[in-house]
Amino acid sequence: VERTLAVIKPDAVDKSDEIEEIILRSGFTILQKRRVHLTPEQTSDFYAEHYGKMFFPSLVAYMSSGPIMALVLARENAIAYWRELVGPTNTLKARETHPDSIRALYGTDDQRNAVHGSDTFSSAEREIRFLFPDSIVE
Ligand code: ATP
Repeated sequence: VERTLAVIKPDAVDKSDEIEEIILRSGFTILQKRRVHLTPEQTSDFYAEHYGKMFFPSLVAYMSSGPIMALVLARENAIAYWRELVGPTNTLKARETHPDSIRALYGTDDQRNAVHGSDTFSSAEREIRFLFPDSIVE
């Protein structure tokens, strides 16, 4: 089994129960869960790879605008499978090409797109450590 980090973003945190149901129905186990309101500084660290991009300042403002729900998910092929379930970055594109994806169902636009998923093994490990610093990693 593989682990990945899922984040329910501020715009969708009210729908956390529904999104968690989709997660469980899709065969994931939720290993850990934490509701947290990140500061702009913490958000900038989390998204450090996007530093310098045009959308970085508004991404940081959005992701620190309210609480998020961080979830550690486990499943065979968890990283790729969660990204597939999440759908394309842009919600409007997701509605056209992946109408059953979580972003198509719960996102708003190209930025407020409801959920995040780690894209590689190393980013999953880093992001899990970032959001669950006290947990024991075996
Ligand atoms: P995530 O990393 O959140 O799972 P992703 O891998 O689909 O999403 P990235 O390119 O890593 O997308 O961008 C990270 C986040 O930055 C996006 O999820 C979105 O909220 C925001 N973002 C990306 N591109 C744009 C854009 N062109 N305009 C506004 N916001 C954007």
